[in-house]
Amino acid sequence: MRPALRPCAVDIAQSRGRRHPEPAPATRNEFARDRDRIIHSSAFRRLEYKTQVFVNHEGDMFRTRLTHSLEVAQIARSVARALGLNEDLTEAIALAHDLGHTPFGHAGQHALNACLAASGGFEHNLQSLRVVDELEQRYPDFDGLNLLFETREGILKHCTPARAATLGELGVRFVRNQQPSLEAQLVNLADEIAYNHHDIDDGLRSRILTLDQVCEHDGFRAALERAGSSGKPRDKRQTYTAIRHMLGAFVDDLIAASAARVEAHAPRTVDEVRASATPLIDFSAPWRAAHVQLKRILHHGLYVDPTVVRFSAWAKRIVRELFAAFDADLSRLPPAQRARVEDGQLASSRVIADYIAGMTDRYALAEHGRVCGSDYAHTARPWLQGS
Ligand code: MG
Repeated sequence: MRPALRPCAVDIAQSRGRRHPEPAPATRNEFARDRDRIIHSSAFRRLEYKTQVFVNHEGDMFRTRLTHSLEVAQIARSVARALGLNEDLTEAIALAHDLGHTPFGHAGQHALNACLAASGGFEHNLQSLRVVDELEQRYPDFDGLNLLFETREGILKHCTPARAATLGELGVRFVRNQQPSLEAQLVNLADEIAYNHHDIDDGLRSRILTLDQVCEHDGFRAALERAGSSGKPRDKRQTYTAIRHMLGAFVDDLIAASAARVEAHAPRTVDEVRASATPLIDFSAPWRAAHVQLKRILHHGLYVDPTVVRFSAWAKRIVRELFAAFDADLSRLPPAQRARVEDGQLASSRVIADYIAGMTDRYALAEHGRVCGSDYAHTARPWLQGS
């Protein structure tokens, strides 16, 4: 049996509904239907071949956007259950939160944002919303997945006030500086917990990050010592155990600190949550500091490593060249994308960005080969080739 929902959790009775009204599902609740629509979308399947931090084809052991999204959903769902929040909504937001990510991780997004500097920019959060609102074409009566307002609210994590003004009801909170639902707040934190810990794991596996670097973190050092108390020499299992314990400790703190904050504010409805000046789901002050320390170690030890930086520079060039090639000659776009340009509803730059953002890493390389004449799709670790 699931625990009862808190009064301030999102409940279908308080939902602002779907943009296109539909009959209620017979055997699922409305939020489970959203989750299922996300899992069956083509954008979700493509996450499997999109880089998280480590290049998608570097090795089969590293995280991809898909496994990252599943880890976020697992953490978020556990916390939602402990806090009496809406688990199905939480899971739907978590599984959808990265649907708009470009190929090649953050490098791809930065490059695409620069390409679109004169026409509104590119932001992966907003792109995730475009995917579920417009770009998925699976239903006869509407574009997108026709998700509930609360799912869409959770997907749109950041937004500039200028852009928010164009988003109607969904943009209001950015203009008024309000919060989203507790479920949406929770997914933001679960996202950060997930990537901190899996990047430590992948960083160690790749040997870019050393155990000594990670041991600079007080929480990890303590967890590693606890994991080694059997007297056995340090091995992989000890490291996994330490990462697991640290992750568990962050999650336990998030649950306890958030429960205390929600109880102190005592919001009676979702709208009272939204009206709160600050998020109610958060770590305690000491664990917030530990969280920041972990991010700092990852930044210095992993994200600015010369190999990672070299990959990013190469990936940005691929995206820039793809954009420039399509922009210079729209006839290079596939027929479906050309039809979107000819339709005249969108600037051609936005159609190109939608197309590139939807690509997997390997599809982007194949397209780069087709329109730019490269052979990267058949080159081992092409970002290390040449000068
Ligand atoms: Mg994420």
